Amino acid sequence: MATLINNLCVIGTGLIGGSFCLALKEAGACKKIVGAGRSEATLKKAQQLNIIDSYETEITNAVKDADLIFVSVPLGAMESVFEKISAGLKLAANKKAVVTDAGSSKQRVQQLAEQIFADDATGFNSSRFVAGHPIAGTENSGPDAAFAELYKDRRVILTPTAKTDHAAIKLVKEIWQITGATVETMDAAHHDIVLAATSHLPHVLAFGLVHCLENMEDIEDVFRFAAGGFRDVTRIASSDPVMWRDICLNNRQPILDMMRRYKDELDMLYNALEASDGEKLIEVFQHAKQTRDKFTH
Ligand code: NAP
Repeated sequence: MATLINNLCVIGTGLIGGSFCLALKEAGACKKIVGAGRSEATLKKAQQLNIIDSYETEITNAVKDADLIFVSVPLGAMESVFEKISAGLKLAANKKAVVTDAGSSKQRVQQLAEQIFADDATGFNSSRFVAGHPIAGTENSGPDAAFAELYKDRRVILTPTAKTDHAAIKLVKEIWQITGATVETMDAAHHDIVLAATSHLPHVLAFGLVHCLENMEDIEDVFRFAAGGFRDVTRIASSDPVMWRDICLNNRQPILDMMRRYKDELDMLYNALEASDGEKLIEVFQHAKQTRDKFTH
C-alpha cells in the first residue's frame, strides 16, 4: 500500500501503542516510527521487538518532525504527556502534526487537550486533536504483549467535537482502518456512559470479586477448586491496576451510576434468595440468558 504517514510518533509503546505500530508496519503504512515514553528499558524492548524504528527519551524531541502523534499511556499520565507534546511542537514549530490518543475514557481527555493545546504561535491547536478509543485489548501489558492483529475486526470509537478539523479526523480514521478496525464516531459523553456499562463496571466487579474472595478463610481451597466460570468472570482482574485506577478516576460519575444500578440488582437477587423466591430467580436468570444469547450469537 502507499505510505500514509511519513513520521509516526507513538508515546507509550505498551500493548495498545505497540500493537498499533505492529499493524501499521505490517501494512507498510508508515515510513518511520519513533517511540517515546517513560522508561528507556521499555523503549529499548519495543525497538528490539521491531515495534518502533527508533526512540527518543524526551517526548519534546520525539514529536519534532511527527505527522501523527499517537498517545497510548495510562489516563493519569495524559496531562503531563500533552504538556510535553505541546512544548515540543512549539519548540520545533511543527505546524503539520495531528494528535490522537487511545485513552479508555474520553471527556476528561478532550478537556485536557482543549486546555493544553490552546492556540499558539506554531499554529497547532486542539482542533487537530482527535480523541479515540480502540475497543480491543487483553489483560496483558507492555511491549511484549503487543501483536499486529489486536485491532482486526474490532471497533474504534472516535469522539471529535464540532471544532475538530475534518482532515485530521479523516487521517485518524484511515490509519485505524489500516489496522483492520472499523471506525465509528460518537459524542464523548455518550462514549463514557456506554463504556462505563460495558467495560468499566465489569472490570470493577472482577477486581472486587477476587478481592472479596481473597479475604475468605478458606482462600487456598477457593482458588484450588476454581472452575471455568470463575476464570471467565475474573480474567480481567489480571489487568493493570494503575491503568484501571486511572480509568475509574477519569470516568468517575458514569462508573458510580453503573455501580449503583448493579448494587440495586444484587440487593434484588439477595432478597429473592433470602425469601427462597425461585420464581424471581428463574425470571431474572432467563431474561439475562436471553439478552446475552441475543448479543453473542
Ligand atoms: P501498557 O501496556 O501498560 O502501556 C503503557 C505505556 O505507557 C508503557 O509504554 C509505559 O511506559 C508508558 N507510560 C506509563 N506512564 C507514562 C508516563 N507517565 N509518561 C510516559 N509514558 C508512560 O498500557 P496499554 O494497555 O497499552 O494502555 C495504554 C492506554 O490505552 C491507556 O490509556 C488505556 O486506558 C488505553 N486502552 C487500553 C486497553 C487495554 O485493554 N489494555 C484498551 C483500550 C484502550 P513504562 O513501561 O516505562 O511505564
